[in-house]
Amino acid sequence: TTPVMFDNVKVPVENLLGEIGKGYKVAFSVLDEGRFLLSVAAVGGAKMALQEAIKYANQRKQFKVPLTKFGAIKEKIADMITKIYAGEALNYRLADLYDKEIQKINHDDPDYYVKKQKALEEYSIECSISKIYGSEALDFVVDETVQIFGGYGFIKDYPAERFYRDARINRIFEGTNEINRLLVPGIMLKKAMKNELPLQQSAMAAFEALITPSFDEIDETKKYSVEKNLIKNLKTLYLALSGMAVQKYLDSIKKEEEVLFALADIAINIFALESAVLRADKAQDIVNPNKLPLYDSVVKTVAFECTNNVEIAAKKAAFYIGGDALQSILSGIRRFTKYDANDLLEAKRLLADTAIDQEKYIF
Ligand SMILES: Cc1cc2nc3c(=O)[nH]c(=O)nc-3n(C[C@H](O)[C@H](O)[C@H](O)COP(=O)(O)OP(=O)(O)OC[C@H]3O[C@@H](n4cnc5c(N)ncnc54)[C@H](O)[C@@H]3O)c2cc1C
Repeated sequence: TTPVMFDNVKVPVENLLGEIGKGYKVAFSVLDEGRFLLSVAAVGGAKMALQEAIKYANQRKQFKVPLTKFGAIKEKIADMITKIYAGEALNYRLADLYDKEIQKINHDDPDYYVKKQKALEEYSIECSISKIYGSEALDFVVDETVQIFGGYGFIKDYPAERFYRDARINRIFEGTNEINRLLVPGIMLKKAMKNELPLQQSAMAAFEALITPSFDEIDETKKYSVEKNLIKNLKTLYLALSGMAVQKYLDSIKKEEEVLFALADIAINIFALESAVLRADKAQDIVNPNKLPLYDSVVKTVAFECTNNVEIAAKKAAFYIGGDALQSILSGIRRFTKYDANDLLEAKRLLADTAIDQEKYIF
């Protein structure tokens, strides 16, 4: 990183990029793709850190056994895998969405790049989610890597220290995670205000569903039906709370950053969970059947974690927004975030033991 100074620099007319006065827009749309790429790099870095952590923990002995024999270390490894898998899943999904949009544009079209940029703008929200999730997953993973290295984690001679130091910038550049968190619900609410999204109508129905006690009938013979039903409920929860926020604050919602942050956290965790389930669903037909229990396990650990995160954020949003229906909303939140993570410990141990055995990330 170095300063670059421009002082009275003359730029030939033919070197002009885009239109005069529109550079700001170009710079901002470039950020979308940059955010996504940052996330891909962050998740890649997290895999490398995980691998180093496992290798070290396999050879370091305490109380006469390798660190990887301890349940607490196994749990750290399982939690690291959980975040990496979800980050990777949402990035693959966004790459696919991007590809499909770009394939619609003829490469010989003189406006190819303008059209490409326009198409990618459709996914600004997903790019912000990807940036936040990837950079925070990396931070979690490198932090646990330092911890697994113990005192050596703090010493430059070992790789953990550098992972920790290098990871930190990712939450700051390409738009800080705060600014990206504001964008996630912000863009959606802006579109709703301009009537480009029928948020208010959907939010009303979602609100009714949230405050009306009901029982979900789930066909548990279908793969991941419990998680898919959970995702449906979490989306309803997001819509209901967004609608309540707009109703209370109207246009000044953009200044209510604490509420927007809570909404963003709900959206981020839904997108991560849904992507994780979609990826595991696809894996059923393409991966070696021996590997499928790993997918079942990681779906469970991602669902458990994301649902807990949604519950906390949703309760925060509900208390921030307040109102007469608060108690009904809180019981709706409890109902819609209910997830029976049976055999969670077995799931975590399978993920950790497989990674410890292979000394690497396992998906
Ligand atoms: C190594 C490095 C490389 C970089 N590379 C580039 C590059 O290639 N191109 C480029 O354009 N920039 C680059 N940057 C700049 C980087 O994008 C900015 O540092 C970053 O966007 C944050 O801006 P700032 O430093 O001015 O912090 P500030 O805007 O002063 O923010 C400080 C804190 O306040 C928070 N904050 C600010 N406004 C709000 C708000 N409205 N609501 C809530 N919280 C808010 C921020 O999230 C942050 O936590 C780089 C920075 C570094 C360190």
